[in-house]
Amino acid sequence: MSDKSLPFTKAQLEAVAAQVPTPFHIYDESAMRANAKALYEAFDWVPGGFKNFFAVKALPNPHVMQALKEEGLGGDCSSYGELVLCEAVGITGENIVFTSNDTPAYEFQKAAELGAIINLDDISHINFLEDALGGKLPELVSFRYNPGPLKAGNAIIGKPEEAKYGFTRAQLFAGYRMLKSKGVKRFGLHTMVASNELNPDYFVETAQMLFDLVVELSREVGIEFELLNHGGGIGIPYRPEETAVDLAYVGSKIREAYEASIVAAGLGPIKITMECGRMITGSYGYLVGRVLHKKAVYKDYVGLDANMANLMRPGMYGSYHHVSVPGREDAPKKVYDVTGSLCENNDKFAIDREISDPEIGDLVVIHDSGAHGHSMGFNYNAKLRSAEILWSGEGQWRVIRRAETLADHFATIDFPGLG
Ligand SMILES: *Cc1c(COP(=O)(O)O)cnc(C)c1O
Repeated sequence: MSDKSLPFTKAQLEAVAAQVPTPFHIYDESAMRANAKALYEAFDWVPGGFKNFFAVKALPNPHVMQALKEEGLGGDCSSYGELVLCEAVGITGENIVFTSNDTPAYEFQKAAELGAIINLDDISHINFLEDALGGKLPELVSFRYNPGPLKAGNAIIGKPEEAKYGFTRAQLFAGYRMLKSKGVKRFGLHTMVASNELNPDYFVETAQMLFDLVVELSREVGIEFELLNHGGGIGIPYRPEETAVDLAYVGSKIREAYEASIVAAGLGPIKITMECGRMITGSYGYLVGRVLHKKAVYKDYVGLDANMANLMRPGMYGSYHHVSVPGREDAPKKVYDVTGSLCENNDKFAIDREISDPEIGDLVVIHDSGAHGHSMGFNYNAKLRSAEILWSGEGQWRVIRRAETLADHFATIDFPGLG
């Protein structure tokens, strides 16, 4: 079970809303920091050190990235813009991993300029990278492994062979030989085969797969690995009946696997890294809107001033996001579709959901918007992107991104009367 209580009271939220009109995303800073600490504690045994590169796409706000940097996190980037964000926050060098695919040369150049760990998506990118960097590969290069059908035995994995990412197993052997012959000295291996996975044993299996592979690659190619990257994909309990991944359990099981494979083979110490985004910030963001309308036709509707352009996941993936009505915890419950105002019938935060029956004007909180929430926002129907607020506890908060204005929205069009 996961706790869906809120870190702020209705009065505290109303005090924020009095200064920053709804809708807005609000992030619980201390909960994010505590969560990051728990992840690091679970891996404090790693002889070569542990780092989580925060997947910037989950919450690309430099104020949040700054707080995470203070907790020891790096950045996982897959685009030029994300690299620039890291640079601005002072996350540079090997505190960045650049895991991109279908990458343009200028992005590789920026990553190399920052000294980022470059993680290649395909064997053909070795020469592409070399050309992009004027004929010289970085000292450290990592490859992304896609196990394809080799991992099909696992019911919860999805289908890696249908994913566009990564090297085949055979390509890894050929690829590292090629790096070695080109004079690369330091090697990393990465995989990312899950998304929003809640089964802790899944991550242990993935680690075991990487450890076995590293033992084999080290022997056959005759190189030493410095860094393993287990990717992201640790899920969060969007539904109240779901349970968060037990990080301490995952850490201790991965330790057993590390000792049985890496240490037993006489390798190491190897640095263990991850690229979790969602599990770092996802549960600690809340989209706050206000009830504008209630409507009873063939179904009952609650209409908010927030819409799918503020949080796309329910409309795009049918994802569950918990809905609560602060201050109405004791009100009678009623089944509603909770909607936004886009001219799209999938602009619904919840369908057939039993919630505390709100009054028009009440605040409504959509939970777990801290990853792929604001960042996946868009401007369809000329809707504006919302503000983002960092909540530091007990009435302490600040705006870390103001709401867009119509002038912002029209800024790229030169037309009389707009802008
Ligand atoms: C999206 C992504 C992540 C982060 O995934 P989460 O589910 O947020 O942990 C990490 N690495 C890569 C390469 C990704 O594309």
